[in-house]
Amino acid sequence: MGNRYCRILPCVAFAGIMSLAVSWDAGATVTGGTVPPALFTQLEQFHGHICAGSLFGARMGVAAREALRDAGGEGRLKARYYDLSCPLDGIQAGAGTTYGNADLMVEDRDEHRLVLTADGNKRQVEARLTRKAEELGLRSRELGKKARSLPQDSAERKRLEREIEGIFTWLRTAPTSEVVAITPGQVR
Ligand SMILES: [Zn+2]
Repeated sequence: MGNRYCRILPCVAFAGIMSLAVSWDAGATVTGGTVPPALFTQLEQFHGHICAGSLFGARMGVAAREALRDAGGEGRLKARYYDLSCPLDGIQAGAGTTYGNADLMVEDRDEHRLVLTADGNKRQVEARLTRKAEELGLRSRELGKKARSLPQDSAERKRLEREIEGIFTWLRTAPTSEVVAITPGQVR
């Protein structure tokens, strides 16, 4: 599908859950919508590779969690995401909502959209990617495909890999409003 990011199979996701013995420290250490490097390191270990989807998932998760708290959301957070793919692992890391604690539900509709609800008072926010983030994510995937088709030591492959790394750096560090669009949601 057009906007899929390295799709994961449910069994792989389940294996991931089972290995989630580590506790994400997102709640204690994240401020101002930015994500500390340590969280990205944890995410890479958990997810098994670096990709645009897991990175922007973390950005969406952190941004939505902070926006919901700012909006007065109380109690336990519940996440719903509308694509079964790499961003889910970033959301688990960024929002602290996991399959294992039953705080993350997935509807596979090919939409990179996260709805986060505060269970205490039903406040809700919706996070989507900005157009720029979505386009760069897709571009990194296309460049990755092209790079893998070239010999390891080719200059062109190295150039493509540098461009991909530049996109990943942007996804990790760009100001939140450039990566994630947050809107108040409605409880449905
Ligand atoms: Zn991935």
